[in-house]
Amino acid sequence: MQNNHPLTNWQAKARQMCAGAEVELTPKRLEVYTALLQAGHPLSAYELIDEVKHHFERQLTPISIYRMLEFLEQKHLVRKLKSAGKYIAITPNGPSANQQVLQFLICRECGEVKELGIDQRILVELKTCIDLSGFRLSNLELELDCVCTNCSTHTDADTGK
Ligand SMILES: [Zn+2]
Repeated sequence: MQNNHPLTNWQAKARQMCAGAEVELTPKRLEVYTALLQAGHPLSAYELIDEVKHHFERQLTPISIYRMLEFLEQKHLVRKLKSAGKYIAITPNGPSANQQVLQFLICRECGEVKELGIDQRILVELKTCIDLSGFRLSNLELELDCVCTNCSTHTDADTGK
C-alpha cells in the first residue's frame, strides 16, 4: 500500500507468477483477477461476473468464470473460501513468503478481509495432533470465525449502553 499504484504492481507480479506456464494469464483471466482484487472482499462467482461486466464491459458465462477461477487458484492468485462459497484475490506481495502460510481473516459482521501469515510450525503442530487422532487433514487452509477491530469496538459500544 506504500506504492501509488499497487494494483498495477500486483498485476505485473501476477503475470510474473504465471510466466512460463503452459497456460497463460490471458487478458480475460487478468481482468477476473483484477476485478476480485479491486473488490477487496470475497465475492461469489456470480458477483464476480457482475464486477467484470461493470469494470471491463465483458460478459462472462458461469462456466468460463469457474474455469478462470480454477486457473487462478492453481496459480495461488485466488483462494476459494469454502465456508462462504466465495473467492478472494491473493495479493502477490502478501505474507505468503518465507516460513509462513497465508490465511484469511474475515470479519463476519462487515466482511472485511485481512491476510495473515501464520507460522508454518503452528500448522505442522496442528497437523500432528490430527494425525495422532487417526484422522487425516485434507486441507491446511483455516477459515477462522472473526470480528474486525471496527466491528468489535462498535459492538462494545452498543453493549455499554
Ligand atoms: Zn467488521
